[in-house]
Formats: sequence, structure tokens, C-alpha cells
Amino acid sequence: MHAMTLKKIGAPLEWTELPDRQPGPGELRIKVAACGVCRTDLHVMDGELPNPTVPIIPGHEIVGRIDAVGAGVAGLNLGARVGIPWLGRTCGVCPYCVGGHENLCDHPLFTGYTRDGGFASSTIADARFAFPLGEVGSDVELAPLLCAGLIGWRSLVIAGDGKKLGLYGFGAAAHIVAQVAKRQGRSVFAFTRPGDVATQAFAQRQGATWAGGSDQAPPEPLDAAIIFAPVGALVPLALKAVRKGGRVVCAGIHMSDVPSFPYRLLWEERQLVSVANLSRSDGIDFLRLAPQIGIATKTTQYPLIQANQALADLRSGRFEGAAVLVA
Ligand SMILES: [Zn+2]
Ligand SMILES: [Zn+2]
Repeated sequence: MHAMTLKKIGAPLEWTELPDRQPGPGELRIKVAACGVCRTDLHVMDGELPNPTVPIIPGHEIVGRIDAVGAGVAGLNLGARVGIPWLGRTCGVCPYCVGGHENLCDHPLFTGYTRDGGFASSTIADARFAFPLGEVGSDVELAPLLCAGLIGWRSLVIAGDGKKLGLYGFGAAAHIVAQVAKRQGRSVFAFTRPGDVATQAFAQRQGATWAGGSDQAPPEPLDAAIIFAPVGALVPLALKAVRKGGRVVCAGIHMSDVPSFPYRLLWEERQLVSVANLSRSDGIDFLRLAPQIGIATKTTQYPLIQANQALADLRSGRFEGAAVLVA
């Protein structure tokens, strides 16, 4: 097998040839067809997440086909198309796992961060965390659903039922969430980097009612807002944009520091919450819903060997929607 490997925090990924791996008990080997590129991959590479495992193969939006099955795996067959998400393993016994909050597991493994991921020709996954994908949709267009879609979905559920929804940062996750929210009868207000008229136009093509810079106030108070951009300075801006009792959801795994802000922005029962990881039920719910809604992902493809280019383009916002690596 070959992979784009992170050998040192802060360094570019390196093309590496590795011996083929065999799935252990309860595991699958997957021939990777497509793997989405997520901002979390940048946070891993930049050393912004605690206790990184290096060397590591990043990538946690994996679409591929099972090409070897470990002992004890039931219900998943050779050749089946599956998706492998960020949540790679949970302990099953900690209070969070037992209490139905496996996204907060005390001893988890995360794909592409603490266990090898999908920037590779092949990967090993825990079969319990593989989602069957069926045959509808291409590998490339499905890949962004595995994190941008799933985390976006969890964030949308946590944002509540409000009809006026703000999205700060209009990239891979927001362009999927906008389609779901619109289908649910909500109005989407998209906030981009100030002056980024190209992304604002993209947001409007994805169904946003209004699009503007994050330094602008929305035309009317919002019921809820989700912050996808890793920018702490957006927190007070989003609190200012929501109505009394409104909720602001921070969806990213890492953010720059949140600046201090006057208490009156939180006053009147506004809520500020974060979303961490995903649970398998999020994946099952969302992947069932996605084909019904007919979510169309906008993707830019890169060959696996150009992973560093894809990551650089994500960092500087050079494409619309999501980047996907293809084997
Ligand atoms: Zn646990
Ligand atoms: Zn991700």
C-alpha cells in the first residue's frame, strides 16, 4: 500500500510505500476510493490538537470497498461500499459510552489523528464504526458527507428548530448544512470572510437567503448560528446576531482564542455551546436522510499524491465546497 504520511508535526505529508496490512479481529481492510480533506487534518498537521500520534496517515472522510474482513465481523461483506468517519473506536464502558454519549468517550480513537486514516490506497478500520453506503452516488461526492456532513448534521440538530439560521464560514460543512436546512423550511444566512464575494455568491447558489461578511449584521435577528470557521473572534459576532434565547453552536475541533466580550451579548438567555465528534447514531440518521434530500456536494478532486496542494488550497480558501483525494 502507499500513503501520504505525516511524519513530523508541522511538516508536509510524505509519499510512503508500506507493507500491506491485515485486519485484526473485528476489523476491516478497505481499498480507499476517495477521501475528503477536512480542516481537522490541518489542525492535526499544525499540532493544534493534543497528543498527536506520529507518524500518522491523516484523512477521516473515507469511501471505499471492503477487501479483507477480520475474524468475528458479521454483516459486512467483501466488495461492499462503506464510509469510515472521524470516530474510529470507542471504549464502550466509560460513563459517556454507557450513557449514550459515545462522542465524548474517555478512551476513543480518531481516524487520521490517533489511528491511521484514508490518505492512502488502503486502510484498516474497526468494523463497528464503518457505515454501509449502498450504491447510490459517486465515491467522490459521498466523501464529504463523512465528516463535513455528519458534524454539520449534529451541529444543526443541536442548533434547535429555529427558522432563521446563521452559518459562519461557508465551506464543506456549511454548503451541506445549507441544503438540509433549506429542505427543512429554514432560511439560511451565510457569513464569509469580509469581502469574499465569490463565496457569498456560492452560498446563495446553495440556497442561502442572505450572504455577507462576518463583520456585517444580518438583516434580521437569527434564531441560531453555527460557527464552522476556526476563528474565536466570530463568537461575540454570532452572539450579537442571535435573538433573545438564541443559540450559538461552535462546530470546530479547534478555534483561535475567543476574545473577551460584554456580558450583555450572552444575557437574555442566549446560549453558547460546542459540538464534539459524532456518534454512530448521527451517522445512521444523516446517511439515511442524505439521499432523500438529494444533497449535492461541490467537490474539487486531487490525486492522492497532491494531498499537500489540496491542504494548502483549503487553508487559503481556494476552492468552493470540499476537496477530495482520489486513489
Ligand atoms: Zn467510552
Ligand atoms: Zn473532519
